[in-house]
Amino acid sequence: MNMWQAEVRVDLDAIRDNVATLRAGTTAEIMAVVKADGYGHGMVPAARAALAGGATWLGVATLEEALTLRRAGLTEPVLAWLLAPGLALHEGVAADVDLNAGSLAQLDELVTAARRAQRPVRVHLKLDTGLARGGATPADWPALLEAAAKAQADGEAEVVGIWSHFVYADAPGHETVDHQLAVFAEGLATAEQYGIEPRYRHIANSAATLTRPDAHYDLVRPGVAIYGLSPLPSEHPTGLRPAMTARARVTLTKRVPAGQGVSYGHAYHTARETTLALVPLGYGDGVPRHASNVGPVALGGRTRTIAGRVCMDQIVLDCGDDPVAPGDVAILFGPGDDGTPTATDWAEAIGTINYEIVTRFGGPRVPRVYDGTAGVPAEAAAGDHHSREASGSREASGTREGESL
Ligand SMILES: *Cc1c(COP(=O)(O)O)cnc(C)c1O
Repeated sequence: MNMWQAEVRVDLDAIRDNVATLRAGTTAEIMAVVKADGYGHGMVPAARAALAGGATWLGVATLEEALTLRRAGLTEPVLAWLLAPGLALHEGVAADVDLNAGSLAQLDELVTAARRAQRPVRVHLKLDTGLARGGATPADWPALLEAAAKAQADGEAEVVGIWSHFVYADAPGHETVDHQLAVFAEGLATAEQYGIEPRYRHIANSAATLTRPDAHYDLVRPGVAIYGLSPLPSEHPTGLRPAMTARARVTLTKRVPAGQGVSYGHAYHTARETTLALVPLGYGDGVPRHASNVGPVALGGRTRTIAGRVCMDQIVLDCGDDPVAPGDVAILFGPGDDGTPTATDWAEAIGTINYEIVTRFGGPRVPRVYDGTAGVPAEAAAGDHHSREASGSREASGTREGESL
């Protein structure tokens, strides 16, 4: 077999177990959020693993993502919430995709789609409780409810949910959380006056799922947590395990003298004679260029800092006199075993959030390899080499032959 050069490994069992962990902390159902290609982990395999862990709903941003889940054969309820005017929403209705309406215009489009699909559209009405992103403001809410009640009476819509989204639940105790919960409760009471009492009321993202049981209602919508990453400050332990590992094999090592400028712009200079190691992952693969001179990488039993600029295809590590050699495995981030860096460490190093780190590595350039069997269809799990079709992913599923971590 061919040796691998760089890869993103995704531990499907970790995703399953993370969902099970979240489930143990709530009486609500779980909507696993798998938008943005499952935060870079692969949307369909991540969805299957989450369902294996007990999720009963899937959440995505776009109609196309929802239809991709359906085409992969997933029949569980799916909510798609970010819909520009003029989309082929009737295809979503026909595919039994739940759709969001946060304005009269959006509800109108859904009703039109329902007529075209000749069946009622499953609607989740969104109340803007303060994020000022999607959803109807409290001022516009009664009009939306009135129109939804009419569409429901006409048999053109079924209001399945009322929902909202938090501003700042990742700062536990932040005043916006209580305020939004109060606005949400009021919005639900107003809906009742219009005869709208949907089966699912939902507002909690990962952070609120982890810290605010009083916000769980009937359904929680964790995203980043199912991938094992915490949205919370580090003093809040979560018991979750990061599912993604990004790693690469050193392509070349060399000795250079003290004072050697390294990589583009010579933004780094060696302090003494040292061994440099080239690691074949760069911004074309998902490594943020902002990680220049700050990104942590484990190699040869130690965590090192990227020496100089991140290039499109590669980075350089200054390894001192450590015996690193071509073929050695450098870990950019993973579950953090043995003190190796995590996506959260990367986020802290470059001033972003762990969400962005893993999502960046979902691109097509680095092969994605799946570990574990959670949610892998039986026919695919049977062999060492799994087809793209069987796994529902653009990449092979399952560990490569002769492969070990
Ligand atoms: C992305 C998203 C989520 C999941 O958020 P996390 O912070 O990853 O848990 C939930 N709901 C909506 C509307 C979202 O856009």
